[in-house]
Amino acid sequence: MRDTDFFRSWMTEAAAAVDREAGWLTELDSPIGDADHGSNMRRGFTAVLAALDADAPATPGAVLQLVGRTLISTVGGASGPLYGMLFRRAGKALGDAAEVSDPELREALAAGVDAVAQLGGAAPGDKTMLDALVPGVAALGTSYRAGAEAAADGALATVPLRARKGRASYLGERSIGHQDPGAASSALLLRTLADIAERAEGAR
Ligand code: ADP
Ligand code: MG
Repeated sequence: MRDTDFFRSWMTEAAAAVDREAGWLTELDSPIGDADHGSNMRRGFTAVLAALDADAPATPGAVLQLVGRTLISTVGGASGPLYGMLFRRAGKALGDAAEVSDPELREALAAGVDAVAQLGGAAPGDKTMLDALVPGVAALGTSYRAGAEAAADGALATVPLRARKGRASYLGERSIGHQDPGAASSALLLRTLADIAERAEGAR
């Protein structure tokens, strides 16, 4: 079972990864966007850490809902409301349980991903974060590491795609040949989840 600490650790690890990779995420957002995805995400996850410290939410669901609300109010851009929705909906799905099972977490994240698709009107293949999130969350059924790897593969597979949603879609054909920044950050989030899950196993 995964307790509140597990989710706090995930967010701490995610914030560190976003901080480390912010330059790269912004670089990905240069040719097919407005070169702000890394700074948007860094601002959001810095605020997430501050909010978790200030509020100390008591359950996994409350952690994820606070993360979602914080991302909505701080990330900006297209990705802020979408990542906000992902975490808020997943948090809601977890309810007020003190601990959640791996299948419950997977189901909650799947509900979050569905909500992102509904809010943004995108589907896999449109060259967005969904190209990492959909295969990544599906593969969590195998293992956390399999989820991280499927998300990374999905992010890389956005390179030859033509963007059909978001800012990159304005470029039409010229969006081809570049990795989608949101797919890259989504893969990062699932990689940190796998890292934390493996660390928790090791500590048992
Ligand atoms: P902005 O595009 O407003 O500058 P960001 O640079 O922070 O915002 O985020 C861009 C990312 O948001 C894209 O790489 C893509 O993955 C994601 N995105 C944009 N629009 C959508 C959408 N409609 N559905 C899903 N993801 C989207
Ligand atoms: Mg941008």
